[in-house]
Amino acid sequence: MRKTYLKFSIPSITQAEIQEVVKTLKSGWLTTGKKAQLFEEKIAHYVGAEHGVSLASGTAARFLSLIVEGVQAGDEVITTPFTFISTANVIHHLGAVPVLADIDPETWNIDPECIAAAVTSKTRAVIPVHYSGQPCDMKNIKTLARKHKLRVIEDAAHALGAEYYGKKIGGLGNLTCFSFFPTKNITTGEGGVVTLNDERKAKRLRRLRLHGMSKDGWKRYAQEGSWYYEVHEAGYKYNLSDINAALGIVQMDKLESFNRRRTRLAERYAQKLARISGIKTLTLRPKIKSSWHIFPVTVEAETFGIDRNRLVKELWERNIGTSVHFIPLHLQPFYQKTYGYKKGDFPVAEKVFSGVVSLPLFPKMTLKDVDDVISAIQDIQESIPK
Ligand SMILES: *Cc1c(COP(=O)(O)O)cnc(C)c1O
Repeated sequence: MRKTYLKFSIPSITQAEIQEVVKTLKSGWLTTGKKAQLFEEKIAHYVGAEHGVSLASGTAARFLSLIVEGVQAGDEVITTPFTFISTANVIHHLGAVPVLADIDPETWNIDPECIAAAVTSKTRAVIPVHYSGQPCDMKNIKTLARKHKLRVIEDAAHALGAEYYGKKIGGLGNLTCFSFFPTKNITTGEGGVVTLNDERKAKRLRRLRLHGMSKDGWKRYAQEGSWYYEVHEAGYKYNLSDINAALGIVQMDKLESFNRRRTRLAERYAQKLARISGIKTLTLRPKIKSSWHIFPVTVEAETFGIDRNRLVKELWERNIGTSVHFIPLHLQPFYQKTYGYKKGDFPVAEKVFSGVVSLPLFPKMTLKDVDDVISAIQDIQESIPK
């Protein structure tokens, strides 16, 4: 058994990140400035988008994206029940209705057929979530969006570096929202970016992230001094500080090596888990590349011998941390009370949730760490009384 506790996720921060943050602190400019601009340019360039707008979080990214895509009170926005609560909360905050569509039983991504069944005359947008880093079925989602005139806003919190038919997620032409929370593929402590190809919308995102203030009128008004601004709509305070962006600039240079490492570890897990009965891994679709944000598996209790909750506890007792992604939205009391969702509404998401557990996965992990997790799972299965 492992002597030291293997955490579920650890951010990879080295001296390079620390130095860049210290440089920023000493520069005299702490809030949104050159570093934030460089960071968003790096992301946009990497994913193949024309613009990147940095924000305080992935949640802020999605909230402002819904606004610039014209989502208003009373509109319906379709998303998956199998996501983090943030995805639906931002829809609710706009007075719009989060309409859920069940997932594909093999990829655990939103099922385009379920989206089609959920579309009404009030549907304004769809938010596909690239679960675990595997891109959603974007071809069918885009076809549906064209047919019903829906805006597509991608929740790519898991998908920085993921590819779909040779193109990076973020470069497919939709507003795409990334998150840099500490567990994500790169981190800024807290932060987010929207990538897009629409200059007008990028400008509006920049205005909304800072109180709705615009300096566009300045040239008209004054010859000197930069004190003048105009407010044409009430914005928010969702900008990313240069201190946070400094982390991101260094992390971006490491993203490719981080993701290669994640892929190597995921392949090792998949290969070894294939020999354990009752543990199922995610099916990968052809022509995609996953960014392997997490490594989720499902436990089939009858075959494996114990259920997910027991497995989590037994792994913890063997010094291995895990997490669960996600508790389906329609099982949350708030969403049940507010939107009338109930148990049984999305059977595929519920079935997957009942067995799902995410195993440790982060770039600093070693192949030996993966083997320790596998040995622990084998040991647990062997110790179940027949
Ligand atoms: C992490 C995550 C978010 C939230 O991002 P924040 O930066 O924490 O606001 C949203 N959606 C999904 C699917 C996530 O995993």
